[in-house]
Amino acid sequence: MIIVLKPEATEREIDHILDRLRELGLKSHISKGQERTIIGVIGDDRILQNQPLIAFPGVESVTPILAPWKLVSREFKKDNTIIDVSGVKVGGKKLVIMAGPCAVEKLELTVGIAHEVKAGGGTILRGGAYKPRTSPYSFQGVGREGLDYLLEAKKQTGLPVVSEILDPRDIQLFLEKADIIQIGARNMQNFELLKEVGAYDKPVLLKRGLSATIKEFLLSAEYIMSRGNRNVMLCERGIRTFETEYRNTLDLCAVPTIKELSHLPVIVDPSHATGKWNLVAPMAKAAIAAGADGLLIEVHSNPEYALCDGEESIKPTKFKELMQDLKKIAEAVGREL
Ligand code: PEP
Ligand code: MN
Repeated sequence: MIIVLKPEATEREIDHILDRLRELGLKSHISKGQERTIIGVIGDDRILQNQPLIAFPGVESVTPILAPWKLVSREFKKDNTIIDVSGVKVGGKKLVIMAGPCAVEKLELTVGIAHEVKAGGGTILRGGAYKPRTSPYSFQGVGREGLDYLLEAKKQTGLPVVSEILDPRDIQLFLEKADIIQIGARNMQNFELLKEVGAYDKPVLLKRGLSATIKEFLLSAEYIMSRGNRNVMLCERGIRTFETEYRNTLDLCAVPTIKELSHLPVIVDPSHATGKWNLVAPMAKAAIAAGADGLLIEVHSNPEYALCDGEESIKPTKFKELMQDLKKIAEAVGREL
């Protein structure tokens, strides 16, 4: 951490700051220039994260050197993290395609879509049994039995499943029935839920909050990892901006940025990012070109009748076509599909 002092800072004020740093167990190095005095703090300056050093008289600015997260960072782990999801590797050379309906509806429908996803080249089946809807009057998901429908689909297709948890009290159910526990955008900062999923080693797909900065996103991942769970995947799913032409703005810049800052796999969700089925394929392609490790795509055999997010769901034929196109892009950026 670098503390820049105001030009008029007095010796007394400087000593006061140095005393505090010593109290905190940190060493400091003072550099007195012609115009300014700078204090360099030596040691793990994360200790200072919650210390209001800027409040000390004489301090002009405080600049941390270390990122506020540790376990998620590239410095902590140089190599990409590869997560084993019941035999499917996430974060390696091979791209991972998670696809399926927004919400689990009926058993036959879920199983039918799962077969289509598998035939199209998908590697993981998605489906929400519990749905975090903006309106209390919208379909809230079929609940617990939805996880059984997904399990049946898994049994028939071999596809591992990802499903969203809303309530920490359901953790045992999800540990038993899901291969990846999804934390949705609305719960990215539900810290109790993050701590709960952090207590196990079940893979977690953490989605970026609607208005979350990358820093907040990575700190949420740090919450999970600091509890012991190292199997975290990050999912960029669009953020809220002033643009209203589409549902959200897909922040593709987040992909290479997070890849630099963190070793964790990055998945892109072009469905929720755009909210429009016709924008899913172009943004899916762009995401792979930008270096994403995989995609989360809503696929429905009958989007016109879907109980949730039909407007952004693509049909299985479109999904299959997209997979073919993605193969070429994957190859061009040194990945496999
Ligand atoms: C979802 O993937 O089902 C979902 C609700 O997405 P998000 O949390 O990104 O809105
Ligand atoms: Mn959806």
